[in-house]
Amino acid sequence: MSIFPSPFYSPSLVYYPDKILRAANESINKTQARRSINSLANEMLRIMRENDGVGLAAPQVGANVKMFVTKYNLLPHQIIINPFWLPVKNSSKYTVEEGCLSFPNLTLKVLRFDKIHVRYRSECGKTWDMDIGGYSAQVFQHETDHLDGRLFIDHYISIV
Ligand SMILES: [Zn+2]
Repeated sequence: MSIFPSPFYSPSLVYYPDKILRAANESINKTQARRSINSLANEMLRIMRENDGVGLAAPQVGANVKMFVTKYNLLPHQIIINPFWLPVKNSSKYTVEEGCLSFPNLTLKVLRFDKIHVRYRSECGKTWDMDIGGYSAQVFQHETDHLDGRLFIDHYISIV
C-alpha cells in the first residue's frame, strides 16, 4: 500500500460531507517508507498550522491511513501513528466545546473522557504507552475518532 492515494496527490483540507472522512483507514506498518510518512506528516503539520488547528488527522487531507498530527507540546510527539486509547479506571466523562477543521464555523459540546491510557507509534518507529489527561486527552480522542471514521457530530450533546 502506498501512503498516498495517487502519484499526483497533493494534500489539502477535506470538508464534511466528503466520503473520505467516513472511509476505513489503514494501519501504517513498519516497513512503509519513513520518507513518505514524513512527507505526509509534514504536509499535515503545515495545513494544520495554516488553519490554526490543534490537531489534524490523515483522512482530513485525503489520505486514509492511521496517523494524526498535533500542535507542539500537546503530546510528547507531534506525529502520532496507529493510535489507540482506553479510559483509565477512575476516568469520567465531561462536557467540552470542540471544533474541527473539516467543519468550518461549527462548535459543538461533546462528551470526552478526562483521563485516558494511550498507545501509539512515533515517527522513529518506537511504540509509546502512557496516561494523559485534560486537553491532550480531548484532542487524542477527537483525532483517533477520525481514524475510525467517526466525527464529532456523531456524539455531540448540543450546538454552541
Ligand atoms: Zn476533527
